[in-house]
Amino acid sequence: MPEVAPVPLSQLTTLRTGGEPARLVEAHTADELISALREAWSVGEPWFVLGGGSNLFVGDEPFDGTVIRVRTSGIEELPGSRSETVRLRVQAGHDWDALVAETVARGYAGIEAMSGIPGTVGAAPVQNVGAYGQEIVQTLVEVEVIDEATGEVSTVPAPELGLGFRTSVLKQHYGSVPERSAVILSVTLELERVGTDERPIAGEQLRGALGLEADQAVSLRWIRDHVLATRARKGMVLDAEDPDTWSAGSFFQNAIVSEAFARTLPEACPKWPMGPALDAVTVIPLAAFDGILPPPPVENRQVKVSAAWLIENAGLSRGFRFPRSRAGLSTKHTLALTNRGEATAAEIAQLARFVQQRVQSEFGLLLQPEPVLVNVEL
Ligand SMILES: Cc1cc2nc3c(=O)[nH]c(=O)nc-3n(C[C@H](O)[C@H](O)[C@H](O)COP(=O)(O)OP(=O)(O)OC[C@H]3O[C@@H](n4cnc5c(N)ncnc54)[C@H](O)[C@@H]3O)c2cc1C
Repeated sequence: MPEVAPVPLSQLTTLRTGGEPARLVEAHTADELISALREAWSVGEPWFVLGGGSNLFVGDEPFDGTVIRVRTSGIEELPGSRSETVRLRVQAGHDWDALVAETVARGYAGIEAMSGIPGTVGAAPVQNVGAYGQEIVQTLVEVEVIDEATGEVSTVPAPELGLGFRTSVLKQHYGSVPERSAVILSVTLELERVGTDERPIAGEQLRGALGLEADQAVSLRWIRDHVLATRARKGMVLDAEDPDTWSAGSFFQNAIVSEAFARTLPEACPKWPMGPALDAVTVIPLAAFDGILPPPPVENRQVKVSAAWLIENAGLSRGFRFPRSRAGLSTKHTLALTNRGEATAAEIAQLARFVQQRVQSEFGLLLQPEPVLVNVEL
């Protein structure tokens, strides 16, 4: 097993927190990854896989187990299911943004709006990464995984991964274990061959974010450049010189609440209904109709509400931090909790709890963290 000298996880995570693991393994090939996992599972100690460390919040205490860093890479081009499409099978440790850059250069559309998301390709399906109206679920065909329960490798079609808003059956949400304990070895995407010319862009959210008219034609390259610039203005592209980017991205998820609860929130709070508001139709056979109409079905629609708005309107502005704390809200984006330099996980957790408490006492809902928490509690 390619074991290396352990280093504190604060050096391998973008939020820059985390104690030292007992063992650190770096897997550079799929075979190394498989054997490292099987060995860790046979010992029965705590373990987790680490990609780019950009969606992790790790506690200060040493991690008493094995961390397996996925460092595989490579893109294999395969025929698409139609003549206008192409499939790419990509190794899990491949850098996500390097993949996006490559697809843009080759003229393949489907993930260009997700330019600048840090991390690895293998972690992207874990929380169904997304930005500006694109999510990996739209292009993901299948993943190759190894399951902890069996130690076996299999190919899993995307519809079996339970991909939803920043979630999948593989994600460890705060306070719960993943539905399926498995590690992604490779990811297969299906993309459209559109070339490098300009063309009108589908997707209102992307056009809105980039200030494009409905019929305005732009190239994939143009989209990538403008997404990167827009994200950089919000501190959402990693920059070793800019502490506003020393984060795990959005620390809190937009809250999913019932339509009835959403109505109790102020009018100004941005809300996005999830799923269509179709009235269910009940058909009563004539022979069974006794002249009494049943009451209309109670609609149970869910609504996504803006966590950034809730935080700002709970009285916390950009750049907020406690006196003497080295953790603070980003000065560019209230949703990002940032490490202003040498902050401990305890300092980040103190800030996170305060944000949760403020929002809960103001609006009555508890914001849930988006990153995976290891060795730390909120
Ligand atoms: C500045 C910034 C901006 C961000 N912007 C966005 C954004 O716009 N949209 C978005 O969706 N996310 C965003 N994120 C979050 C993050 O980049 C993504 O979730 C990314 O996919 C995490 O990849 P990673 O390799 O860094 O995962 P890690 O942080 O290393 O791991 C995250 C979780 O996935 C697991 N994991 C990692 N690799 C695998 C694997 N091969 N198989 C199974 N499990 C695995 C880990 O064990 C862990 O539980 C942002 C983060 C930062 C810091």
